[in-house]
Amino acid sequence: MKFVTLNDVLPKARAEGYAVGHFNLNGIPWVKAILSAAEEAKSPVIIASSDRMVDFLGGFKTIADLVSNIGDELEITVPVVMHLDHGQTISRCFAAIDAGYSSVMYDGSHDPIDKNIADTKRVVEHAHKNGVTVEAEIGTVGGNEDGLVSGINYADFNESVRLVEESGVDALAAALGSVHGKYVGEPKLGFKEMEAIAAAIEVPLVLHGASGIPLDQLKKAISKGHAKVNINTEMNMAWIEAVRQSMAQFPDSHEPRQLIEPGEQAISQVVKNKMEEFGSIGKA
Ligand code: 13P
Repeated sequence: MKFVTLNDVLPKARAEGYAVGHFNLNGIPWVKAILSAAEEAKSPVIIASSDRMVDFLGGFKTIADLVSNIGDELEITVPVVMHLDHGQTISRCFAAIDAGYSSVMYDGSHDPIDKNIADTKRVVEHAHKNGVTVEAEIGTVGGNEDGLVSGINYADFNESVRLVEESGVDALAAALGSVHGKYVGEPKLGFKEMEAIAAAIEVPLVLHGASGIPLDQLKKAISKGHAKVNINTEMNMAWIEAVRQSMAQFPDSHEPRQLIEPGEQAISQVVKNKMEEFGSIGKA
């Protein structure tokens, strides 16, 4: 299966007012569940591996080849982007590109803005030469972001515009109140700031930490320029709950498949529900 890039799916989504779902991998069942849900929903899809999960999943090449091969086995016809989530260094982004990823995120959000711009630009130059798209981040998504536990730090307007214009990225994750993992209380997204940043930049916005954001806020964020929405936690909670139930149901089982297969169906259901909420069904 040949991967497409963010530029093959996001501009259309932004123009038509829907978002393409980005779904993180946590194991082989996620690959099958996400791809088959996308095919059933006739929706474009972004499959992502977070940098911190890459070694656990077997390395960049294993992941890219696995997704591509399962895509072939399942005869997937919808557009699939293979994306690195929260690339931690320039060389990790280059390694993902060499292994066949069609898109990378370089996360320089913890650095001063000038360094973030310079490093993102280096990733963009190499990525674009290889036909690969790049997402950048500014501000801090709250919660546990790749091992760094932090509070919310809203993206600055001027820095957001500079990052996009000076680095040449294809999508911008501007942190505006969202949190990775579970929310404590109701999320407070900065819609005013969102509107201002979206109007000032040419590229679509990316919403990180979308698990647990109420539907009305999600729809508002999409209508204000978010064309890529990231989901990890909700899939994982559904998988864990389904596997917990089958373990309780079959306490003497010695057949892993019997115990974990319901988890795959649970992930697929979450993905289809999210595609419905994002408005991407039938858009492939
Ligand atoms: P959640 O943890 O809210 O699902 O966010 C996922 C994410 O933003 C991955 O980058």
